[in-house]
Amino acid sequence: MHSSPLAPSARRVDENSIRLLPKAEVHVHLEGTFELADLLELAKESKVALPGPAATLFDIDTHFAESAGHPGGAGAGAAGLSGFLRFLDWECGLIRTAAQAARTAYRFAARQSASGIRYTDVIINPTHWSGWPGTIDSLFDALAQGFAEAEQDGLCQVQMALSLLRTQTRAEATGVVEWLVEARPARVIALSVDGNERESGRTGEKFAEAFTMARDAGLRRTVHAGESSGPEGVWDALLLLHAERIDHGVRSIEDPRLVDYIAEHGIPLDVCPRSNLTLGVYPDMERHPLAELRERGVIVTVNTDDPAPIGTRLESEWALCADSYGWDENDMIDLARTSIAASFATPELKASLLAELAPLA
Ligand SMILES: [Zn+2]
Repeated sequence: MHSSPLAPSARRVDENSIRLLPKAEVHVHLEGTFELADLLELAKESKVALPGPAATLFDIDTHFAESAGHPGGAGAGAAGLSGFLRFLDWECGLIRTAAQAARTAYRFAARQSASGIRYTDVIINPTHWSGWPGTIDSLFDALAQGFAEAEQDGLCQVQMALSLLRTQTRAEATGVVEWLVEARPARVIALSVDGNERESGRTGEKFAEAFTMARDAGLRRTVHAGESSGPEGVWDALLLLHAERIDHGVRSIEDPRLVDYIAEHGIPLDVCPRSNLTLGVYPDMERHPLAELRERGVIVTVNTDDPAPIGTRLESEWALCADSYGWDENDMIDLARTSIAASFATPELKASLLAELAPLA
């Protein structure tokens, strides 16, 4: 793994040059972007005692008391992902007013802009927002207001993917989508599903009705699979959930027929290298299948997933790929182009961002 600090001159591609590229991010969870200062501010405002010293708030162990009964051990789907989902429950539970939610959205857009990201499909899973006092409508309204204010201020344009949780029931999932189709909340353009597939088991069939309703209503679809599930999770996402993109999808590499299928059908995999290393899906970048998937003709986007607790930024993820796989500036431009094309941005915004990128290639 190439995470040791390198002098800027020793890196294959300078992070500043990556930052300057117009680009999109398509696999990032709003819940995974709160900085330590945000958490301390929210806890103080909401009069919630910290579960441990400030320096330990991003450690899964700090929130592990609530996850008793889950065996320890590395690996997505074991304590790693389960403990992490409990951390998300804790931090989102701190947000209790519309002003706090709007501020969180605004700061997210600013954070994206600092990495040169011009458009984002951000994932929001309302099951984590346990402290929210009102309805799901009021949560999404407040977030949309924050994103609108950010856009007015010239920051990154953000649209939302509402995410179901793998452990929800069939009735809960269809209930959420019925609301989504009826209410059509501002800036929510997609349905997603995330969570721990090792814990939930195979759930494609359970969510098929919800995703079919979403497709028929014109909502876009992106599905977490092929991380805590193997290739069978990706097949279910494609064949039962009508997924247009797969979030992660890296374990598709275990089924050559699946790799051919996603390459042939142009299904992008939204890959998050450091997230996979952090949760132990792969031990290092050499054994991570990102480069091989790309070489075999699969469309790959490179993303941060949960940048604050992982301690990363988008330009750092792309530079890690350059260092690990020998990718150069042209590969970075290709990643930027792919990120824009794979996003759910409007055709007009895509055309304008791609036009900005064209002279650099
Ligand atoms: Zn994710």
